[in-house]
Amino acid sequence: MSQHPFSVLPLRAELLDNLASLDYHLMTPIQHESLPVILDGKDLIAQGRTGSGKTAAFGLGVLQQLDPTRFHVQVLVLCPTRELADQVAQELRRLARQIPNVKTLTLCGGQPLGPQIGSLEHGAHIVVGTPGRLEEHLRKGTLKLDRLQVLVLDEADRMLEMGFQAAVDAIVDQTPAKRQSLLFSATYPREIEDIASRILTNPVRVEVASLH
Ligand code: ADP
Ligand code: MG
Repeated sequence: MSQHPFSVLPLRAELLDNLASLDYHLMTPIQHESLPVILDGKDLIAQGRTGSGKTAAFGLGVLQQLDPTRFHVQVLVLCPTRELADQVAQELRRLARQIPNVKTLTLCGGQPLGPQIGSLEHGAHIVVGTPGRLEEHLRKGTLKLDRLQVLVLDEADRMLEMGFQAAVDAIVDQTPAKRQSLLFSATYPREIEDIASRILTNPVRVEVASLH
């Protein structure tokens, strides 16, 4: 574990207070390497094993940049499964709980479309979901990403293994060219390099050895 407290980062007071109340004091190595890059607005490829704290790495980075007074989808997180999307959304809500009025919505397959469409009509700042269902909402026009600021690909290796490459590309096509893109993965096979070269611009690459 690194010895770098979150308090060295230029994070809003609500986030720092909340981290202390969650008993998150020291950054994990991947958080220490990734957060300055994300807060600097750069694209990022971050590789680290399961449990290394990748959710808070991108979560704090996007929550710092989010403007809760502008009620449209500013952040999109793509996840391979509904279980992972639910976990990510839960962690984002925990991290955001002292910032008033941040709305995080999950959109995954295997659940009825109607309530998701209703929730989208109410609006959200952060959408977390699986590629197939997100693509469906984009096709129907029920999800709009024209003012997206940050795109996160979480567990990118698993998303590709599950055959989501075409859906990911179709979703990325609907986002503004001028966006920040962050890719997180446990492994870094050749296919990740290909998708990264299509989606990210001059990414900084961070790799945390699996022994830490
Ligand atoms: P990953 O996505 O890399 O598999 P997670 O983001 O799910 O890892 O984090 C693993 C666990 O570590 C979660 O239970 C999370 O709440 C906890 N965690 C993350 N960062 C910290 C931290 N800096 N201090 C304490 N606990 C943390
Ligand atoms: Mg994770």
